[in-house]
Amino acid sequence: MRYIEPHGHMVSRTTDDYTDMAAAGCACVCEPAFWAGYDRSSVDGFHDYFCQLTDYEPKRAARFGLSHYCWLCINPKESEDVALAQDVLGLIPKFLDRPTVLGIGEIGLNKNSRNELKILEMHVDLAARTNQLILVHTPHLEDKLKGTRLILDVLKADRRIQPERCIIDHVEEHTVQEVLERGHWAGMTLYPESKCTGARAADILETYGHERLWMNSACDWGVSVPLAVPYAALEMRKRGWTPETIDSVIYGNPIRFMSQSPKFKAP
Ligand SMILES: [Zn+2]
Repeated sequence: MRYIEPHGHMVSRTTDDYTDMAAAGCACVCEPAFWAGYDRSSVDGFHDYFCQLTDYEPKRAARFGLSHYCWLCINPKESEDVALAQDVLGLIPKFLDRPTVLGIGEIGLNKNSRNELKILEMHVDLAARTNQLILVHTPHLEDKLKGTRLILDVLKADRRIQPERCIIDHVEEHTVQEVLERGHWAGMTLYPESKCTGARAADILETYGHERLWMNSACDWGVSVPLAVPYAALEMRKRGWTPETIDSVIYGNPIRFMSQSPKFKAP
């Protein structure tokens, strides 16, 4: 089996996790910028984090034979502090030329607040001005459907945005169809406690097809499973999916989406 982990917060994982992922067939990992589990106190904290994502972590991944790419932003949780968010938005362009930066993400909404929306629009504007791919985080549980619709409307309102260059992540059964109908890609996050399980993800693939969908573990500092993608592939195999089709979902699809960035090199 070979696969790509298109959404893993590896700065918070151990070397054992890298070893397990490489042993399971992972060829490449992509890391969106994320909340650290605490609010950073200044823009300098983001500067250091972006250095970690673009410099140190690719070197760490390479020690396990994995290529490593990243996405940059201030996450929705910290966007509530608009002044800080504007400072971070001013910092991001200095990093966009680095060779492993694929785009802007994971932007989006958390509590669907007015400030989060304002900073989301500013990120979308930055992506449009600098011709970056976009990776979007959608809110959890009861806020998900409303938040997803708000995000889709922000993307649609900016006429410079090409829908096929945006992936909307953490979709579930009640949001995947609207995302695909707008022409975007959709990501399914495989979590043991919330979001999607491997079985639910396989159901979604069987219902909506697998043209513009990918799966990820979104492993971070919380309860999450770095091998969730290969586990889901086992579920698909159990259901009789052919090896070729499984390969196209867990390996081919992330490559097709990310190859829209000239920096991404298929492993
Ligand atoms: Zn994430």
